Amino acid sequence: MSHDSGNGAPVAPSNFLRGIIEADQRSGKYAGRVDRQGVALPSVITRFPPEPNGYLHIGHAKSICLNFGLARDYGGRCHLRFDDTNPTKEEQEYVDTIIDSVEWLGFSWRDTQGEHKYFASDHFDLMYEMAEWLVNAGYAYVDSQSAEEMAANRGSFSEPGKNSRFRDRPAEESLDLLRKMKAGAFKDGAHILRAKIDMASPNMNMRDPAIYRIRHAHHHRTGDKWCIYPMYDYAHPVSDAIENVSHSICTLEFQDHRPFYDWILARLAEGKFFPQPLPEQFEFARLNLTYAITSKRKLLQLVEEKIVDGWDDPRMPTIVGIRRRGYTPSAIQLFAERIGVAKSDSWIDMSVLEGALRDDLDPTAPRSVAVLNPLKLIIDNYPEGQSEPCSAPVHPHHPERGHRHFPLSRELWIEREDFMEVPSKGYFRLFPGNRVRLRYGFVVECTGFDKDEAGNITAVHCTYFADSKSGTDGANNYKVKGNIHWVSAVHAVHAEVRLYDRLFKDPHPDASGKDFKQALNPNAKVVIHAYLEPGAEQAKPEERFQFERHGYFVADSVDSTPGRPVFNRIVTLKDSWGG
Ligand code: ATP
Ligand code: MG
Repeated sequence: MSHDSGNGAPVAPSNFLRGIIEADQRSGKYAGRVDRQGVALPSVITRFPPEPNGYLHIGHAKSICLNFGLARDYGGRCHLRFDDTNPTKEEQEYVDTIIDSVEWLGFSWRDTQGEHKYFASDHFDLMYEMAEWLVNAGYAYVDSQSAEEMAANRGSFSEPGKNSRFRDRPAEESLDLLRKMKAGAFKDGAHILRAKIDMASPNMNMRDPAIYRIRHAHHHRTGDKWCIYPMYDYAHPVSDAIENVSHSICTLEFQDHRPFYDWILARLAEGKFFPQPLPEQFEFARLNLTYAITSKRKLLQLVEEKIVDGWDDPRMPTIVGIRRRGYTPSAIQLFAERIGVAKSDSWIDMSVLEGALRDDLDPTAPRSVAVLNPLKLIIDNYPEGQSEPCSAPVHPHHPERGHRHFPLSRELWIEREDFMEVPSKGYFRLFPGNRVRLRYGFVVECTGFDKDEAGNITAVHCTYFADSKSGTDGANNYKVKGNIHWVSAVHAVHAEVRLYDRLFKDPHPDASGKDFKQALNPNAKVVIHAYLEPGAEQAKPEERFQFERHGYFVADSVDSTPGRPVFNRIVTLKDSWGG
């Protein structure tokens, strides 16, 4: 949680990455750098590097908040870089949604020096030039082994690999083959460009990793210009260095790739492609969230099999989904701040995300009343056709925000659960003979109820005390234990409300190979028709409210229109999952 620095400015909590950046700033490691055009560079440049092959999810939000947040806090900048080196899986649709999601979260890749949105594919020419240099310098070779031979010669964790019989072919021969690969002379998989490092390295990633492969495929940005594409492990460090990134922050699974990251940049620095100091990679623990899945492949499956209503289904952990659900960017930033960054993997409970939303909205969301499961309450001694103006604060802690006004009349809607024919122990709400306060209105006494032939309660009857109105002197003469909410039946707004809950009922839906479809929560979406406080029909899409006693709700961004509102429940007021 943020604490106060003493001079009023909020200070983000410290973590190991902040420690590294602060130490680098103290030592001046990245101070005084200039770019290729001689323009001064900030001493902290981070990047968020999505592959445009899917929609971003809450795990990516952690990485976005971290990378953009560090840049902001240390006077640097953060680049949005699309790691688009895999032509067959990438699409413009994904580029567009990623841009939208980062902006919606409240971050920008623009600074006074311009736009810092890059594509790895923008660097393909330079990457290729570097590859030729590596071949000439003896740091890379074209391998012509078959895929089977290559796999067999790779060795295992316990056994060293074997050198390819092509490893020592002359540089000119490799260069000639590389150029022919580029020119389209070979089929996919016929040859591969590999770094020449050490086939006996205990780190498998250092056993002559592939740098370029042949892939006759159309790329969403470079079209058919290339039929060889750089491997991620090559493109990533090279893109970082081209963009003058200082701190390249990634998730833990890349720890074993760091030696190659350093090796390749050091070689290319020898070739004068990059100045010192080079970017450095640091790893942090990815976000694992209970009751959710964050595998792109499995999320795609939910969409394709129509288990959810698309990528932006409010039950989805995608950024477009949680946005439509009603989450605010500030709640997600607060969540990211609270979970912090660690160096070892762990699980974060869904209640932490939900709690951040509550804490974000509680101080700001206007209050309103909604009856979700309606039962008629008839005030028999209140005249028909008449109404009584009542009012309630827009926000209980902000009197300056004024009051909402709504009428009370003879027939009201109350929650079905606020009445019991035979009260259970400790039940203080309506039951025959008992008195409760109608919130912001009068005290009433229950006098009876109606039932249909099937035994269902169809209406409750009561009488009211005209001198008991909230806010009047008489109100204090009535001591009641129950306080229930209501809306006037003739004045209420009838609206569709979608009660959303966690998508899975199991905290670890896809743990150890389980079929996550078995763990779906059938009650994650319940559509009802509810009665809302007059005025709710004016809600604009994405406008949020606290419906008193129920939780936080938002006017749906797609289906809600002023006059015909549709609300989504973002989260209940209290955690019912015991998380
Ligand atoms: P893929 O399997 O397609 O690579 P990915 O989830 O790693 O999936 P990327 O587009 O490569 O997707 O991720 C972009 C950035 O977001 C990377 O730096 C990655 O480390 C980070 N990231 C992805 N998932 C998480 C997560 N669960 N928690 C934190 N950061 C994440
Ligand atoms: Mg990735």
